[in-house]
Amino acid sequence: MSLVDGVGRSIDYLRLSVTDRCDFRCVYCMAKNMTFLPRQQVLTLEELQRLATVFVSQGVRKIRLTGGEPLIRPGIVELCRHIAALPGLRELVMTSNGSQLGRLARPLVEAGVKRMNISLDSLDPERFRAITRNGDLRQVLDGIEAARDAGFERVKLNCVVMQGRNFDEVPALVQYAIDQGIDISFIEEMPLGDVGRSRGESFCSSEQVRALIAEHHPLLDSPENSGGPARYVRLARHPQTRIGFISPNSHNFCASCNRVRMTVEGQLLLCLGQDNAVDFRALVRRYPLDDQPLVEALHKALRGKPLRHDFTGQGEVQVVRFMNMSGG
Ligand code: SAM
Ligand code: SF4
Repeated sequence: MSLVDGVGRSIDYLRLSVTDRCDFRCVYCMAKNMTFLPRQQVLTLEELQRLATVFVSQGVRKIRLTGGEPLIRPGIVELCRHIAALPGLRELVMTSNGSQLGRLARPLVEAGVKRMNISLDSLDPERFRAITRNGDLRQVLDGIEAARDAGFERVKLNCVVMQGRNFDEVPALVQYAIDQGIDISFIEEMPLGDVGRSRGESFCSSEQVRALIAEHHPLLDSPENSGGPARYVRLARHPQTRIGFISPNSHNFCASCNRVRMTVEGQLLLCLGQDNAVDFRALVRRYPLDDQPLVEALHKALRGKPLRHDFTGQGEVQVVRFMNMSGG
């Protein structure tokens, strides 16, 4: 089984959001005062598992669990265990803010989670608290170390770079990744949701970040490509650490896009940069015992997957959704 969209792209990657809630309120992701969804609008664990099962039966080979913060959803380890065991799935991976990894890294490895991406935007406790609005840096660093020691096949850091907030810390963050023996990706801020501040003034391009790193480390281009908006380089003197640049504001990757996203409300998003969606929550609730309508809706939706997204970069809000709804 394989899934192909209307323009011939093979779609084998699902990003599944398991909650819209979070213990942080990162300035680029959420407004200060967020209203979260009422429980009945959120997919249950059983519904999440059922959707994952249907998507894998149709050709999805990789699932990333995200959110909100996936590790604050009660029952998350059990959900991972069920999804990781689906026949045909190649890998179950996760994106987390790291706050709960001190206690959950090992159970997640045992449940079958293969790789872990952890967000880290600053190594300064005060700045970290300002960016996340209430995060505790020590707790996250402990979580990163727990993840590194727990036996994931790979641990990677994600950092959203903003002028005036953490751009000057890029070399220190690279050094931290080198010291931990893990990878790090630098992400351009995307205009998703009104977070109560102008994004243009803090926007920082991947070129600027790359140039700053190159002042400290000779960089080697790397041919690795995930089918997404990431480009990789390696450090000549530290071959174990890869540096990624995620440039969602550029159009260059749409031709090789291999992914779709399921929001925590069961809306299938065909493109992060566009608003059209298919309501799978309505389908799972209308057809509790029959998967065929879900299978047909999936194939029909993919035929309409947009050719490219609509960001123009550096701009103000274009997509009304917040990032915690779609999982990034
Ligand atoms: N809570 C988890 C975390 O922070 O890693 C998972 C969900 S979070 C929405 C997924 C990723 O999206 C994180 O790496 C975060 O830094 C990134 N992100 C959130 N809002 C963003 C934005 N407006 N532009 C670019 N990246 C963003
Ligand atoms: Fe929470 Fe992740 Fe959004 Fe930060 S980026 S507020 S940790 S969901």
